[in-house]
Amino acid sequence: MTLTTTPRIHASLLILGASVFLLSAYNANFWRTFVSATGGLGLSHLPLHLGSFVLLVLLFNACLNLINFRFVVKPLLVLLFMATSATYYFMNEYGTAIDKSMIQNVLETDVHEAFELLNWKLLLTITLLGIVPSMLVWRTQILFCAGKRGLILQGANIGGSLLVAALLLLLFFKSLAPALREHRELRFLLAPTNYIQAINGYLKQQRARALVVAPLGMDATRHASAGANSQRSVTLIVVGETARAANFSLNGYARVTNPQLAQQPDLLNFTDVQSCGTATAVSVPCVFSALGREHYADDKARAQQGLLDVLAHAGFGVLWRDNNSGCKGACDRVEYEDLSQADPGNTWCVDDECYDERLLDGLPELISKARKDLVIVLHQKGSHGPAYWKRAPAAFQRFGPVCRTNQLESCSRESIVAAYDNSILYTDHFLNQAIELLKAAGEKERVSTAMLYFSDHGESLGEHNMYLHGAPYVISPVEQRAVPFMLWLSEDFRSRYHIDQRCLAARTGQSFSHDNVFHTVLGMHRIGTAVYNPGLDIVGPCTHEA
Ligand SMILES: [Zn+2]
Repeated sequence: MTLTTTPRIHASLLILGASVFLLSAYNANFWRTFVSATGGLGLSHLPLHLGSFVLLVLLFNACLNLINFRFVVKPLLVLLFMATSATYYFMNEYGTAIDKSMIQNVLETDVHEAFELLNWKLLLTITLLGIVPSMLVWRTQILFCAGKRGLILQGANIGGSLLVAALLLLLFFKSLAPALREHRELRFLLAPTNYIQAINGYLKQQRARALVVAPLGMDATRHASAGANSQRSVTLIVVGETARAANFSLNGYARVTNPQLAQQPDLLNFTDVQSCGTATAVSVPCVFSALGREHYADDKARAQQGLLDVLAHAGFGVLWRDNNSGCKGACDRVEYEDLSQADPGNTWCVDDECYDERLLDGLPELISKARKDLVIVLHQKGSHGPAYWKRAPAAFQRFGPVCRTNQLESCSRESIVAAYDNSILYTDHFLNQAIELLKAAGEKERVSTAMLYFSDHGESLGEHNMYLHGAPYVISPVEQRAVPFMLWLSEDFRSRYHIDQRCLAARTGQSFSHDNVFHTVLGMHRIGTAVYNPGLDIVGPCTHEA
């Protein structure tokens, strides 16, 4: 007589076990890279490595509990094991990280090519890491807590996991944040989230291809008095990177980080301005869209023209110069110059990067040649971290001692802040150079000039043990949201567009945000269109009729 017993397990234990299994069995590549990115194996790094393992187990546990229901959890776990085992094989065999172009390759491979990839090693991997665990799960009887009590337990399980994960994240933040930022490949190595994200990205890309960009502000025209003057106008919009308001001496910071701008008599420094997001990829497209923070979404912004299009409709020449990672869709239909690639022949480039002053190269000639009113966007590298010390030339390494590594945990907070402050000191110089360039062009070419500067988001520098940026907006610390914002208008510009400087100076202490940029740029150039909202125009109330 044979006695077969069906193995039984409680649903929550099954999910915890599956989380541990996913992270241990399929992620050799990920852990190898992670360990070397965080300083290698060693007793001193053991808490960090163990803590990170537990952190990921808890996150997986929270996610998988969302599908932990009778009739759902078994087939989904089987699917997960099968797909992850195949992914594991390809990652190990070909050393590939999984991203959306990889998914595109897979999905666009024909049947013949697919058969060529089949071999015994693949079958063995799928059997051991896919079929075996799947059979085990399939044969097991899963015990669920019934009804309301079951749901409450599951909710508590998810909430508890996320809470402990958040605590672990805070505890190891100083080590984890730079490692994840410097080793972006890690997210393409972690299975199964890598291929799930990649499939999602691929689908998004397919949808974006079909996208028709809706026109905006086709009715844009310039006010008669603005167009009548024969003098052209040139406006620089400087988009800063990772500059936080708190570290500008113009905003009361104790270190003198703005020695040059403090000497510009007509510069208006706005002291209370909030960013749209806490990361470049959100703030940059948001600030150039007409959506405003509350209504902003990545796909909405891409489906609609933005500020630069409206300026073009109004007859302006528009150029985007970039020393960062691109304009994230904000400049899609205007002229674009990528100045971020190192050029050994260029004075501003050292090793593999270029200082922001490169953005000013050739601008006087460009201004002189233009026949239209111009708006030129300069996208800085600014204070991009964690390698702050790389952002400023030797002449601006004034504060110290300076942290000279990406591994922030090996630096004191003071040395991290000192490196950051030097990058602000260099931005001070860069902005001052831009204003001086405009002044010179104003005299030589008889053009009316203006500059608007704001940063895309701020930065955490150790407050609440947080570093860098990118925290979810609703819970983000103010350091990541409070950005510098400055406006400089030449006398010619003010008289051409009838702007009252004193009135503007009286507004510099009021609360503004990135939402004001779109309408302020339209307002300061006296561009009329139905999409213009005078309520959000900072300059508007300070203009008067000729
Ligand atoms: Zn940024």
